[in-house]
Amino acid sequence: AKQDGRNIHRFFETAMDAQIQQRREMELDLRTAFAAEQFHLHYQPLYGLGQGQVECFEALIRWQHPERGNIPPGDFIPVAEETGLISAIGSWVLKQACREASSWPSDVRVAVNISPVQFRTRTLVLDVLAALGTSGLPASRLEIEITEGVLLQDTEATLTILEELRSLGVRIVMDDFGTGYSSLSYLQKFRFDKVKIDRAFVQNIHEGEDKRAVVRAVTSLCASLGIQTTAEGVETAAQLEALRREGCSQVQGFFIGRPMQAADVLQLLDSCDRP
Ligand code: C2E
Ligand code: CA
Ligand code: CA
Ligand code: CA
Repeated sequence: AKQDGRNIHRFFETAMDAQIQQRREMELDLRTAFAAEQFHLHYQPLYGLGQGQVECFEALIRWQHPERGNIPPGDFIPVAEETGLISAIGSWVLKQACREASSWPSDVRVAVNISPVQFRTRTLVLDVLAALGTSGLPASRLEIEITEGVLLQDTEATLTILEELRSLGVRIVMDDFGTGYSSLSYLQKFRFDKVKIDRAFVQNIHEGEDKRAVVRAVTSLCASLGIQTTAEGVETAAQLEALRREGCSQVQGFFIGRPMQAADVLQLLDSCDRP
């Protein structure tokens, strides 16, 4: 039995070593990826139910690894955050998204995801100013998406940064709403322009009254506060219809459009009915 225990112990040690090794490798790869221009952005449309047109595209980072192929952001963003590389990556994302969006029609916005770590380093406002300045994109066409992780840390400093961005004319969006512990209290702390209702609440919305309750409560609360709402992860026509009935401002998801290459954005906008 003692021998078994030792083997099990060794097994876990080896597994842990492998995990640490993998993270180290990814960190090294991330550093070279940046220099080798292996990152690019995909864009997913946000469709406005009021006007019946695409109003915005969310920029989603993609990493094309030379050996491992496409590595999803969920796998490498946490490593980038732990190593501090997210600052450089995040400022590149802002620049690239603003640059690409500057060639879109003037009524179409771009949304950029911002990591909580980018708030800690205090360079976010400068990064945003630089991205807007070099691209010529008006601030009113930039949305930044933050999760409640941002408001969990050093709230006063964070609120100051958010107010600064807001005073530039940038729109501030609360992402993944409803998944955290105290989402509702954040609506009082900061006046968001838009709230994105997490996919978890959208998934079975068409199944019945009780499944609809959260979306209904959030959309009516936001409407009374003058905050727009986007439903995330819309995959079926039934979900879309239910969300329309609940009065959501925007929808986003595979049913509307998958994340696409920058080159396909203009093509999609051209093929849509635009006034
Ligand atoms: P997110 O901000 O919540 O982005 C939405 C994610 O849901 C995207 O995954 C998108 O491809 C996926 N999605 C969209 N519609 C549907 C749908 O109908 N069904 C399903 N099942 N999924 C859908 P992606 O691109 O893998 O990104 C994952 C997360 O990585 C993002 O979640 C965001 O937190 C983070 N991320 C992506 N790009 C960036 C970035 O440039 N900077 C930072 N800091 N984080 C990023
Ligand atoms: Ca997002
Ligand atoms: Ca989200
Ligand atoms: Ca998410």
